[in-house]
Amino acid sequence: MNNTLTSSKIVEPTIFDLSSPGRNGVSFPDPDVPRAKLPESLLRADLPLPELAEVDVVRHYMRLSKFNYSVDDGFYPLGSCTMKYNPKINEDTCRLPGYMFTHPLQPIETVQGNLALMFTLQEWLKEISGFEAVTLQPAAGAHGEFTGVLIMRAYHKSRGDDKRVKMLIPDSAHGTNPASAGMTGLTIVQIPSDERGNIDLKALKEQCDDTIFGLMMTNPNTLGMFDEHVEEVIQIVHDCGGLVYGDGANLNALLGIIRPGDIGFDLMHFNLHKTFAVPHGGGGPGSGPVGVAAHLADFLPAPLVGVLEEGDDETPPLFGFVTPRKSIGRMKAFHGHFGGGHVRAFTYIAMHGPDGLKDISQYAVLNANYLLARLRNTYHVPYDRICMHEFVAEGRFDGSDVRALDIAKRLMDYKFHPPTNYFPLIVHEALMIEPTETENKDTLDAFADALIKIADEAKTQPDLLHNAPSTTQFGRMDEVKAARELVLCCWLPEDYAEKI
Ligand SMILES: *Cc1c(COP(=O)(O)O)cnc(C)c1O
Repeated sequence: MNNTLTSSKIVEPTIFDLSSPGRNGVSFPDPDVPRAKLPESLLRADLPLPELAEVDVVRHYMRLSKFNYSVDDGFYPLGSCTMKYNPKINEDTCRLPGYMFTHPLQPIETVQGNLALMFTLQEWLKEISGFEAVTLQPAAGAHGEFTGVLIMRAYHKSRGDDKRVKMLIPDSAHGTNPASAGMTGLTIVQIPSDERGNIDLKALKEQCDDTIFGLMMTNPNTLGMFDEHVEEVIQIVHDCGGLVYGDGANLNALLGIIRPGDIGFDLMHFNLHKTFAVPHGGGGPGSGPVGVAAHLADFLPAPLVGVLEEGDDETPPLFGFVTPRKSIGRMKAFHGHFGGGHVRAFTYIAMHGPDGLKDISQYAVLNANYLLARLRNTYHVPYDRICMHEFVAEGRFDGSDVRALDIAKRLMDYKFHPPTNYFPLIVHEALMIEPTETENKDTLDAFADALIKIADEAKTQPDLLHNAPSTTQFGRMDEVKAARELVLCCWLPEDYAEKI
């Protein structure tokens, strides 16, 4: 394990290893115009590029792609990430030429369809969440959080309320929450969870005074638990003048059932790449729109998409860009991830409609509870009550040195993507399992069977787990080395830099 790749059974050839002088992927016809003379400064005697035929290149990359795992390949129960199946119709719509070949600087008259789509998506997200206004600009969830904290700061500032410096964050929160708040210079105060996985109300009350900027709350939280006192939590923070930010990454549990805006959240981000089936995890750009309640609408990033001229029976409305009165400014160079994010999410919402969205959440919660019911006698579940879209089990057994990491790696031998592990931090050896609504009962059963079998192997043949995975192209990686000594160009010959 002293090299990130040496544990592999096979040494993979690089594209340079396959190269042979004179092999060629393209042949151009003789030009029918005079050859231009290239400037001497652009020419060099030697350019060390691999020389291969088209078929060699295709086979090389096709082979590499097969070492990968994706949601199109199999079950991907990566808790908190909502790795649901991404319907292929989204790929068709986002590649329509009118969406794909437009530029954000085009005159608005030439992109009315795009603006209508963005405006409608803003309206739908408002309706889904119960908020007053929505920006589509943020690039992903963490960027949405940062945008949200800046909006909260602008709000406090506009009221001359400048002694608020503390952001309250539950100990079950995603790491991006303290990171986003910390980036704005706020002091982070951690609030513990109680034994049912809710925010500890007593600890919360003790912190609340006029230095509280706000609370960042994920509900359901990363334990998959719906906070049983969510309205009281929000009230406590509001009573001391703070704002409540909702981390909407877990919205897949709530669609059509609860609207965060209705229960008192002041603002929240959506992860279109989680809840609304935009691919992620190497599959495409994220998108993290933010919704805000009425008292924060004036502070949203500019521009938003708005109606510049109302239409009537004969003329459609004219869509364009509008700037909220006290806007915090731009959060992104242009208008957010339009084709890869907004068009796909729009398609997904349009294909489901209100009833379909509600079904999504009901099946997501049902699937998680089914898995929980099948596994709770084999794996210890520290917060064991009806869960929402995910739950967290402990990946350890009494009297065994098998760890969550070993179980996660062994799952790969059974052809499943491992669940999120070692998060949230408040569960020892955490295995965080989120099946999503797109899996059928056969898949859920196969996964539960594998985990039950692995628990048995942990007792009888623990080395199978310690040495897993043994059926993948590469074996167990040295994860610390892989993270600390990242080699992104290992496919280049060592002397490449000298040659170019
Ligand atoms: C995924 C996630 C985030 C961050 O979202 P990104 O889109 O990955 O930046 C924040 N909070 C929770 C609970 C999440 O699951």
